[in-house]
Amino acid sequence: MPAAASISRRQLLKGRAQPKPFEPRPPGVDPISVASCTGCGECLEVCPERILALRDLRVVLLPEMGECIFCGKCAEVCPEPVFSESRLMAHLVDISGDCLARAGITCMTCRDACPEAAISMRPRIGGPFLPVLDPELCNGCGACVAPCPSQAITAIPREYSDEG
Ligand code: SF4
Ligand code: SF4
Ligand code: SF4
Repeated sequence: MPAAASISRRQLLKGRAQPKPFEPRPPGVDPISVASCTGCGECLEVCPERILALRDLRVVLLPEMGECIFCGKCAEVCPEPVFSESRLMAHLVDISGDCLARAGITCMTCRDACPEAAISMRPRIGGPFLPVLDPELCNGCGACVAPCPSQAITAIPREYSDEG
């Protein structure tokens, strides 16, 4: 038993137990279709918001760089079967405990930045209103990510959105 615990700890220290960080993709790209990305970089060149990059020769979306305006230009130029017609994001966002309002500092920046009205401010006794995300309204555009003064908003896979 102690030996097993020791091995487990060693594996943890070597990083084997660390899951790969989630990587958001542009609209219409999902974890399966992205395997068809050859890393040609065509989409990076046409994105008017400059929010696309290549990581491990696959396209990734960088919400911290700006908002996706769903212009569809990335999908139009892609020569491979990477983008689906749906143009839906395979992610939404999550507001972490680093939110300033949780620390007692009034902030409504994300609520004001969201074009979908997906973030509302919930009143509470003894502190500033807290931001609450409606996962049904969030389209993953990322407009709320960069303006957050405490980097409290990150992209998460959409299928995990209702796990608490
Ligand atoms: S839809 Fe437009 S803004 Fe969004 S990632 Fe593609 S090119 Fe950029
Ligand atoms: S912008 Fe950031 S710090 Fe401000 S309320 Fe939203 S999550 Fe909290
Ligand atoms: S990602 Fe876009 S739609 Fe979702 S909460 Fe942020 S600003 Fe609103």
